[in-house]
Formats: sequence, structure tokens, C-alpha cells
Amino acid sequence: MNIAFRLNRIKEDLPANVRLVAVSKLHKFSAIEEAYHAGQRLFGENRVQELLSKYEQLPKDIEWHFIGHLQVNKVKYIAPFIAMVHSVDSIKLLNELNDYAGKFNRRVKVLLQVHIAQEESKFGFSFDAIEDFINNKMPERFSHLIMAGLMGMATFTEDKEQIRAEFAGLSALFFRLKESYFSGNEDFKELSMGMSDDYPIAIKEGSTLIRIGTKIFGERN
Ligand SMILES: *Cc1c(COP(=O)(O)O)cnc(C)c1O
Repeated sequence: MNIAFRLNRIKEDLPANVRLVAVSKLHKFSAIEEAYHAGQRLFGENRVQELLSKYEQLPKDIEWHFIGHLQVNKVKYIAPFIAMVHSVDSIKLLNELNDYAGKFNRRVKVLLQVHIAQEESKFGFSFDAIEDFINNKMPERFSHLIMAGLMGMATFTEDKEQIRAEFAGLSALFFRLKESYFSGNEDFKELSMGMSDDYPIAIKEGSTLIRIGTKIFGERN
């Protein structure tokens, strides 16, 4: 397995407005270093403990993105350095992130995770909850957060049309918000969708951030 080769093969085909988050969860430091030496700087992790040890030992110009369900009581550990949290799925989490970002004199970028899949188990706000959130002008309450966009995960299925429809639904919501509530707000620009198996569909539907693990690093053990 050659990580640099795989990484470059993915990057070659990306439109200029799409950035790649290399999802390094459960992979060794040496794998991350290989991607780093090939020029990759954006990495995604989904466990706080694992992220902390990687953050401490790997180069400081890595931009770390948190992509998994984040427990409210663990926010304090990552607040000093996290660049973006893709997976914000509750008001409680927003409050905590805002408080700790403030304590560390930072503004943290966040994406609201929207539940678009059919599976029950996936976290995220419903479309209705997002509408309520916006109608109540909630984004204005979090002065230490930057509302950078939306994130979603499609159903784990072979049915490409279903995946496409789920991404298209999220994309439509994103553009609707961008042209209404967030119009003139340059920060609200990210649509995080697409993983190893479905990222080409996600890009066609307007993704700006793809989160890819297996296709770069191989299977996780
Ligand atoms: C693990 C994970 C990914 C990457 O998945 P792959 O199929 O390995 O590309 C992307 N997004 C989230 C939220 C993940 O947990």
C-alpha cells in the first residue's frame, strides 16, 4: 500500500473548490506522516483520546477536524486547537463549544450535522430542527463559533440513486440557507459530504469537503 500514491490519485480528480479531509482514525502515526510528507495538511479524527495523542506528537501545522459524535464533556480537551467540528448535533454541544472556544480566545468553525440517512443510528439535526434553529436566530448567539456550513452522511447502501437523492436534499438546504439567512456571510460556505464509497456522487451534488479514510489509508483494524 502506498499512501502518497492513493492520496494523489484522489486529489488529481478533485474540482478546485473541493478540499480533502484525510480521515486517519485508527491509523498509525506513521501513516499520517506519510500523508503529511505527500503534502496533506487536513486530517479528520472521531475519538477525542486518539486525536489528543496524535495532536501532541505530530506536526503542529496539521489542521485537525473532528468528524464524529462529540461528547459534551470532552469539548474542553480539543477546544484549544481544533480547526473545525463537522459533527455538531445539538444545541448543548454548541453552547459548550462556544464557552470553551471563548476561554481559549478562539473562534472554532462548526458545521451543523443534518440527519439525511434512513438509518436510525446516525446523529444529526432533522431538517425541521435546522429550520427552527435558523428561525430562532440561534447562530447569532455563539460569538466564539463560526457557522461554516452543513455536514451529512448518506445511508450505507448500494443504491446510488438513494445516496444521490440524500446528498441533493442536503445540498438544497445548504443553498437555501446560504441565499437567505446567511446571505452576505462569507463564512457559511462548506458542505461536508462524501466518504470513500460515495464521494464522486457527493461532489456532483455540491460537496466542498470530502472525508476520506479507507481509500487513502486502507482498511481500519
Ligand atoms: C470514518 C468516517 C469517514 C471516512 O470513511 P471511509 O469510508 O473510510 O472513507 C468519513 N466521515 C465520518 C463521519 C467517519 O466517521
